Amino acid sequence: MSLFIPDSPHQPASLTRVTHLGIGAHHDDLEFMAYHGIVTCYDNPDLWFGGVTCTNGAGSSRIGPFADLTDEQMQEVRHQEQDAAATTGQYAAQYQLGHPSSVIKDPANPTLTNELLTILQVTKPEVVYTHNPADKHPSHLAVTAATIKALRQLDPAVRPRQVLGCEVWRGLDWMADADKILLDVSTNPDLSKTLGAHFASQIVGGKRYDLAVRGRALANATFFDSHSVDAASHVWYAMDLTPLLHDPSLDPVQFTLAHIDKFKADVSQNLGPHFNSWGRNS
Ligand SMILES: [Zn+2]
Repeated sequence: MSLFIPDSPHQPASLTRVTHLGIGAHHDDLEFMAYHGIVTCYDNPDLWFGGVTCTNGAGSSRIGPFADLTDEQMQEVRHQEQDAAATTGQYAAQYQLGHPSSVIKDPANPTLTNELLTILQVTKPEVVYTHNPADKHPSHLAVTAATIKALRQLDPAVRPRQVLGCEVWRGLDWMADADKILLDVSTNPDLSKTLGAHFASQIVGGKRYDLAVRGRALANATFFDSHSVDAASHVWYAMDLTPLLHDPSLDPVQFTLAHIDKFKADVSQNLGPHFNSWGRNS
Protein backbone atom coordinates (compact mmCIF):
# COMPACT_ATOMS: atom_id res chain seq x y z
CA MET A 1 0.00 0.00 0.00
CA SER A 2 1.33 3.45 -0.85
CA LEU A 3 0.03 6.76 0.45
CA PHE A 4 0.61 10.04 -1.38
CA ILE A 5 -0.29 13.36 0.25
CA PRO A 6 0.02 16.01 -2.46
CA ASP A 7 0.46 19.04 -0.21
CA SER A 8 2.93 17.36 2.11
CA PRO A 9 5.38 18.49 3.44
CA HIS A 10 3.90 21.98 3.27
CA GLN A 11 1.05 20.94 5.52
CA PRO A 12 0.86 18.30 8.26
CA ALA A 13 -0.23 15.01 6.79
CA SER A 14 -3.68 15.00 8.31
CA LEU A 15 -5.81 12.19 6.99
CA THR A 16 -8.67 13.03 9.30
CA ARG A 17 -9.48 16.07 7.16
CA VAL A 18 -10.94 13.75 4.48
CA THR A 19 -14.68 14.34 4.12
CA HIS A 20 -15.32 12.64 0.76
CA LEU A 21 -13.64 9.29 0.07
CA GLY A 22 -13.61 7.58 -3.35
CA ILE A 23 -12.84 3.86 -3.50
CA GLY A 24 -12.20 2.63 -7.05
CA ALA A 25 -10.76 -0.48 -8.63
CA HIS A 26 -8.51 1.06 -11.27
CA HIS A 27 -6.43 4.15 -11.89
CA ASP A 28 -8.81 6.76 -13.36
CA ASP A 29 -12.00 5.23 -11.89
CA LEU A 30 -12.07 7.90 -9.19
CA GLU A 31 -11.81 10.79 -11.62
CA PHE A 32 -14.62 9.36 -13.75
CA MET A 33 -17.09 8.04 -11.17
CA ALA A 34 -16.34 10.23 -8.13
CA TYR A 35 -15.77 13.55 -9.89
CA HIS A 36 -18.69 14.92 -7.88
CA GLY A 37 -16.68 14.42 -4.70
CA ILE A 38 -13.50 15.82 -6.23
CA VAL A 39 -15.12 18.99 -7.56
CA THR A 40 -17.15 19.49 -4.36
CA CYS A 41 -13.94 19.59 -2.34
CA TYR A 42 -11.81 21.48 -4.87
CA ASP A 43 -10.70 24.90 -3.60
CA ASN A 44 -12.77 24.38 -0.46
CA PRO A 45 -10.73 24.63 2.76
CA ASP A 46 -13.34 22.72 4.76
CA LEU A 47 -13.89 19.76 2.43
CA TRP A 48 -11.25 17.26 1.32
CA PHE A 49 -11.33 14.40 -1.17
CA GLY A 50 -9.43 11.21 -0.47
CA GLY A 51 -8.78 8.57 -3.12
CA VAL A 52 -8.26 4.82 -2.87
CA THR A 53 -7.16 2.88 -5.97
CA CYS A 54 -7.22 -0.85 -5.28
CA THR A 55 -5.46 -2.58 -8.21
CA ASN A 56 -1.90 -2.30 -9.50
CA GLY A 57 -2.57 -1.58 -13.18
CA ALA A 58 -0.54 -4.58 -14.34
CA GLY A 59 -3.30 -5.84 -16.61
CA SER A 60 -3.86 -2.47 -18.31
CA SER A 61 -4.20 -2.38 -22.06
CA ARG A 62 -1.19 -0.75 -23.72
CA ILE A 63 -0.93 0.77 -27.13
CA GLY A 64 1.00 3.44 -29.00
CA PRO A 65 3.98 4.71 -27.02
CA PHE A 66 3.06 2.36 -24.15
CA ALA A 67 2.83 -0.79 -26.30
CA ASP A 68 6.23 -2.23 -25.35
CA LEU A 69 6.10 -1.59 -21.62
CA THR A 70 6.44 -4.56 -19.28
CA ASP A 71 3.85 -5.19 -16.59
CA GLU A 72 6.20 -3.60 -14.05
CA GLN A 73 6.77 -0.50 -16.19
CA MET A 74 3.05 -0.17 -16.85
CA GLN A 75 2.30 -0.34 -13.15
CA GLU A 76 4.72 2.53 -12.56
CA VAL A 77 3.18 4.62 -15.37
CA ARG A 78 -0.30 4.15 -13.98
CA HIS A 79 0.87 4.85 -10.43
CA GLN A 80 2.39 8.16 -11.55
CA GLU A 81 -0.71 9.08 -13.55
CA GLN A 82 -2.91 8.53 -10.49
CA ASP A 83 -0.69 10.58 -8.19
CA ALA A 84 -0.55 13.39 -10.78
CA ALA A 85 -4.35 13.46 -10.84
CA ALA A 86 -4.38 13.60 -7.03
CA THR A 87 -2.13 16.67 -7.16
CA THR A 88 -4.23 18.40 -9.82
CA GLY A 89 -7.46 17.58 -7.98
CA GLN A 90 -6.12 18.84 -4.63
CA TYR A 91 -6.80 15.50 -2.93
CA ALA A 92 -6.03 15.28 0.78
CA ALA A 93 -4.58 11.84 0.15
CA GLN A 94 -4.26 9.16 -2.50
CA TYR A 95 -3.92 5.53 -1.43
CA GLN A 96 -2.73 2.98 -3.97
CA LEU A 97 -3.20 -0.55 -2.65
CA GLY A 98 -1.37 -2.21 -5.55
CA HIS A 99 -3.26 -5.50 -5.69
CA PRO A 100 -3.38 -7.81 -8.71
CA SER A 101 -7.03 -7.96 -9.75
CA SER A 102 -6.98 -11.75 -9.12
CA VAL A 103 -6.40 -11.07 -5.42
CA ILE A 104 -9.30 -8.66 -4.95
CA LYS A 105 -11.64 -10.86 -7.01
CA ASP A 106 -11.14 -13.80 -4.62
CA PRO A 107 -14.13 -13.65 -2.24
CA ALA A 108 -12.24 -15.79 0.28
CA ASN A 109 -9.37 -13.28 0.55
CA PRO A 110 -10.15 -10.66 3.24
CA THR A 111 -7.08 -8.48 2.52
CA LEU A 112 -8.87 -5.70 0.63
CA THR A 113 -11.75 -5.53 3.13
CA ASN A 114 -9.29 -5.27 6.02
CA GLU A 115 -7.27 -2.52 4.31
CA LEU A 116 -10.39 -0.52 3.47
CA LEU A 117 -11.58 -0.85 7.06
CA THR A 118 -8.27 0.59 8.26
CA ILE A 119 -8.50 3.49 5.78
CA LEU A 120 -12.11 4.20 6.78
CA GLN A 121 -11.14 4.17 10.46
CA VAL A 122 -8.36 6.69 9.82
CA THR A 123 -10.16 9.03 7.42
CA LYS A 124 -13.74 8.84 8.82
CA PRO A 125 -15.34 10.26 5.65
CA GLU A 126 -18.83 11.74 5.57
CA VAL A 127 -19.51 10.52 2.02
CA VAL A 128 -18.14 7.43 0.27
CA TYR A 129 -18.18 6.89 -3.50
CA THR A 130 -17.58 3.42 -4.90
CA HIS A 131 -18.70 1.28 -7.83
CA ASN A 132 -22.37 0.38 -8.12
CA PRO A 133 -23.37 -3.24 -7.42
CA ALA A 134 -24.89 -3.70 -10.91
CA ASP A 135 -21.63 -2.78 -12.67
CA LYS A 136 -20.45 -5.33 -15.26
CA HIS A 137 -16.71 -5.25 -14.46
CA PRO A 138 -15.74 -8.08 -12.05
CA SER A 139 -12.99 -5.99 -10.40
CA HIS A 140 -15.44 -3.15 -9.79
CA LEU A 141 -17.86 -5.55 -8.09
CA ALA A 142 -15.04 -6.93 -5.95
CA VAL A 143 -14.31 -3.40 -4.73
CA THR A 144 -18.00 -2.70 -4.06
CA ALA A 145 -18.31 -5.91 -2.04
CA ALA A 146 -15.15 -5.23 0.00
CA THR A 147 -16.30 -1.65 0.64
CA ILE A 148 -19.70 -2.80 1.92
CA LYS A 149 -18.06 -5.46 4.13
CA ALA A 150 -15.60 -2.91 5.54
CA LEU A 151 -18.29 -0.30 6.16
CA ARG A 152 -20.41 -2.83 8.03
CA GLN A 153 -17.48 -3.51 10.39
CA LEU A 154 -16.92 0.18 11.03
CA ASP A 155 -17.88 1.60 14.42
CA PRO A 156 -21.42 3.03 13.91
CA ALA A 157 -20.24 6.27 15.55
CA VAL A 158 -17.91 7.05 12.62
CA ARG A 159 -19.93 5.63 9.76
CA PRO A 160 -20.39 7.90 6.71
CA ARG A 161 -23.77 9.55 6.33
CA GLN A 162 -23.98 8.55 2.66
CA VAL A 163 -22.54 5.72 0.55
CA LEU A 164 -22.94 5.99 -3.21
CA GLY A 165 -22.54 3.27 -5.86
CA CYS A 166 -21.56 5.14 -9.02
CA GLU A 167 -21.67 4.46 -12.74
CA VAL A 168 -18.66 3.35 -14.80
CA TRP A 169 -18.94 0.04 -16.64
CA ARG A 170 -22.73 0.17 -16.97
CA GLY A 171 -24.88 3.22 -16.60
CA LEU A 172 -27.71 3.54 -14.10
CA ASP A 173 -30.25 5.13 -16.45
CA TRP A 174 -32.44 2.02 -16.02
CA MET A 175 -33.06 2.73 -12.33
CA ALA A 176 -36.38 4.26 -11.26
CA ASP A 177 -36.01 8.04 -11.41
CA ALA A 178 -37.11 8.36 -7.79
CA ASP A 179 -34.29 6.04 -6.71
CA LYS A 180 -31.52 7.68 -8.72
CA ILE A 181 -29.10 9.88 -6.83
CA LEU A 182 -28.31 12.77 -9.18
CA LEU A 183 -24.76 14.04 -8.80
CA ASP A 184 -24.34 17.44 -10.41
CA VAL A 185 -20.97 17.37 -12.20
CA SER A 186 -21.55 20.52 -14.27
CA THR A 187 -19.10 22.72 -12.45
CA ASN A 188 -15.48 23.27 -13.43
CA PRO A 189 -15.43 21.29 -16.72
CA ASP A 190 -11.80 22.34 -17.17
CA LEU A 191 -10.85 20.43 -14.04
CA SER A 192 -12.65 17.35 -15.32
CA LYS A 193 -10.79 17.66 -18.62
CA THR A 194 -7.41 18.12 -16.97
CA LEU A 195 -7.93 15.17 -14.62
CA GLY A 196 -8.95 12.91 -17.48
CA ALA A 197 -5.93 13.96 -19.53
CA HIS A 198 -3.57 12.65 -16.84
CA PHE A 199 -4.47 9.10 -17.84
CA ALA A 200 -2.78 9.23 -21.22
CA SER A 201 -1.77 5.56 -21.12
CA GLN A 202 -5.42 4.56 -21.43
CA ILE A 203 -6.55 7.27 -23.81
CA VAL A 204 -3.90 7.59 -26.52
CA GLY A 205 -4.98 4.42 -28.31
CA GLY A 206 -8.43 5.76 -29.07
CA LYS A 207 -10.41 4.76 -25.97
CA ARG A 208 -11.53 8.29 -25.16
CA TYR A 209 -12.80 7.61 -21.66
CA ASP A 210 -12.44 11.31 -20.87
CA LEU A 211 -14.87 12.31 -23.63
CA ALA A 212 -17.17 9.36 -22.96
CA VAL A 213 -17.56 10.32 -19.32
CA ARG A 214 -18.53 13.90 -20.15
CA GLY A 215 -20.82 12.58 -22.91
CA ARG A 216 -22.63 10.26 -20.52
CA ALA A 217 -23.03 13.06 -17.98
CA LEU A 218 -24.50 15.33 -20.66
CA ALA A 219 -26.86 12.58 -21.82
CA ASN A 220 -27.96 11.84 -18.25
CA ALA A 221 -28.83 15.50 -17.67
CA THR A 222 -30.67 15.81 -20.98
CA PHE A 223 -32.67 12.58 -20.87
CA PHE A 224 -33.56 12.49 -17.17
CA ASP A 225 -36.73 14.51 -17.50
CA SER A 226 -38.46 15.22 -20.81
CA HIS A 227 -40.58 18.05 -19.45
CA SER A 228 -38.19 20.41 -17.73
CA VAL A 229 -35.22 22.52 -18.69
CA ASP A 230 -32.08 20.94 -17.28
CA ALA A 231 -31.03 22.46 -13.96
CA ALA A 232 -27.61 20.88 -14.35
CA SER A 233 -25.90 20.46 -17.70
CA HIS A 234 -23.98 17.34 -16.59
CA VAL A 235 -25.24 14.68 -14.18
CA TRP A 236 -23.72 11.44 -12.91
CA TYR A 237 -26.01 8.75 -11.52
CA ALA A 238 -25.48 6.80 -8.34
CA MET A 239 -27.33 4.12 -6.39
CA ASP A 240 -27.76 4.95 -2.71
CA LEU A 241 -26.04 2.14 -0.80
CA THR A 242 -26.51 3.77 2.60
CA PRO A 243 -29.42 1.42 3.55
CA LEU A 244 -26.95 -1.49 3.43
CA LEU A 245 -25.09 0.20 6.29
CA HIS A 246 -28.08 0.91 8.45
CA ASP A 247 -29.54 -2.58 8.12
CA PRO A 248 -26.86 -5.29 8.35
CA SER A 249 -29.46 -7.96 7.61
CA LEU A 250 -30.12 -6.44 4.19
CA ASP A 251 -28.63 -8.78 1.55
CA PRO A 252 -26.68 -6.65 -0.98
CA VAL A 253 -27.67 -9.02 -3.80
CA GLN A 254 -31.39 -8.85 -3.00
CA PHE A 255 -31.07 -5.09 -2.48
CA THR A 256 -29.64 -4.73 -6.00
CA LEU A 257 -32.12 -7.14 -7.57
CA ALA A 258 -34.99 -5.14 -6.02
CA HIS A 259 -33.94 -2.18 -8.18
CA ILE A 260 -33.93 -4.44 -11.25
CA ASP A 261 -37.38 -5.79 -10.30
CA LYS A 262 -38.67 -2.19 -10.24
CA PHE A 263 -37.26 -1.67 -13.75
CA LYS A 264 -38.90 -4.89 -14.92
CA ALA A 265 -42.26 -3.89 -13.40
CA ASP A 266 -42.03 -0.45 -15.03
CA VAL A 267 -41.47 -1.92 -18.51
CA SER A 268 -44.25 -4.45 -17.97
CA GLN A 269 -46.71 -1.81 -16.76
CA ASN A 270 -46.03 0.63 -19.61
CA LEU A 271 -45.59 -1.77 -22.51
CA GLY A 272 -47.95 -4.50 -21.39
CA PRO A 273 -51.29 -2.80 -22.17
CA HIS A 274 -50.26 -2.32 -25.83
CA PHE A 275 -49.99 -6.06 -26.31
CA ASN A 276 -52.36 -7.53 -23.75
CA SER A 277 -54.93 -8.58 -26.35
CA TRP A 278 -52.54 -8.75 -29.27
CA GLY A 279 -52.62 -12.13 -30.96
CA ARG A 280 -55.87 -13.18 -29.32
CA ASN A 281 -58.33 -11.32 -31.52
CA SER A 282 -56.51 -11.55 -34.81
ZN1 LIG B 1 -12.24 0.50 -13.56
